Amino acid sequence: MANYAQLAQKYHTPLFVYNFDAITQSYTTLKECFEGYKSLICYALKANSNLSLIRHLANLGSGADCVSFHEVRRALLSGIPKYKIIFSGVGKTLHEIESALKADILFLNVESESELFLVEAVAKDLGVEARISLRVNPNVDAKTHPYISTGLSSNKFGINHEEAFKLYLHAHKSPNLLPVGIHFHIGSQILDSAPLIESALKIKELARGLLALGLPLKFFDIGGGYGITYTDEVPFNLQEYIKNIINIVKPLDLSILTEPGRFLVGNAGILLTSVLYEKLNGTKRFVIVDAAMNDLIRPSIYKAKHEIVALNPKSKEVSKCDVVGAICESGDYLAKDVNLPDCESGDLLIVKSAGAYGYSMSSNYNSRLRPAEVALTNGKDTLIRHRESFEELIEDELLLLDENTDKVDDIKGSKDV
Ligand SMILES: *Cc1c(COP(=O)(O)O)cnc(C)c1O
Repeated sequence: MANYAQLAQKYHTPLFVYNFDAITQSYTTLKECFEGYKSLICYALKANSNLSLIRHLANLGSGADCVSFHEVRRALLSGIPKYKIIFSGVGKTLHEIESALKADILFLNVESESELFLVEAVAKDLGVEARISLRVNPNVDAKTHPYISTGLSSNKFGINHEEAFKLYLHAHKSPNLLPVGIHFHIGSQILDSAPLIESALKIKELARGLLALGLPLKFFDIGGGYGITYTDEVPFNLQEYIKNIINIVKPLDLSILTEPGRFLVGNAGILLTSVLYEKLNGTKRFVIVDAAMNDLIRPSIYKAKHEIVALNPKSKEVSKCDVVGAICESGDYLAKDVNLPDCESGDLLIVKSAGAYGYSMSSNYNSRLRPAEVALTNGKDTLIRHRESFEELIEDELLLLDENTDKVDDIKGSKDV
């Protein structure tokens, strides 16, 4: 195990630590599932969009699934070739569509009729043929947390079958649209492959019909959402699942594209935090730490469970406690009712499985500075993002000045406060 005590001393806490070798391992595991069949893994950047981490995946051959044009820019900056970048999301702006078409990425995953018409109009203006894929909503329940379930008609994502069929025919006739893919993504942290297979079968039927009509489809995009073990979850057998998918897609001779985020990076990362205080409110025990919901919001918004362990427990005896941060919200906790040994100020705790949707969902709430990020490669640590400073925290803000008395520099540049 990495020497977390040393890392804490060197970089201070709270600190995200990512084991890049573990990322290599999960990428390789997934890639090997496709052996003998044409595939492209497009890492979903929103899980963790640190440039060094993306670059690491780029070096392994990964593509990128982006949900904003700035994510596309991150992917390009990190060395992912444009022909491996796709752009998904329900709310692409005109500017984003224009930029994506100019950047000549692999394709846009279009999520509505009005978006398709806008893409077509922009492509026409630019004099290009926009490569697109439609995100089809298979109306299948992914059986995951409602906030991360996306494949039901009641969710805002995708286009239903009939509508998709109609739009594909429109795209096929348009000189400015080239329908090269078909896509579904029904949710995140999925632990049962049945809804995924059900979706794939539905989408396959649609794809078959479209191919028969001469549409130039090349990619069958099965989305991401592969669940991982946080505490006691048992993920489905990925190898078996991919084998099933290959059997489904093979007769259509399409490339399989997949968009995993969490699976690649979730368990490769931890959040290292220091104990500030212990307190008892009546009989209820709280361990107050220097990380908080602004660093890792998953427990607060999804009731997600992360395993937390003490780095150097002083005793084998443990008792139940809530691990909480300093933020002025009762929802600010990292874990509830977990067993930890007695802690003293300065003790280190490891919050596991924090590589995905940790830093990328972090905020500055309570004017807290975002943590630093460190990569471990072959046991060697490298700082890949420095801890935010107060100056960086306020740098975008423009002070409303009292013309007579204030000067910006007097206030912002003051070293006395
Ligand atoms: C979030 C997202 C993913 C990745 O989800 P994971 O659960 O992290 O694998 C893939 N595709 C799309 C369209 C997404 O929105």
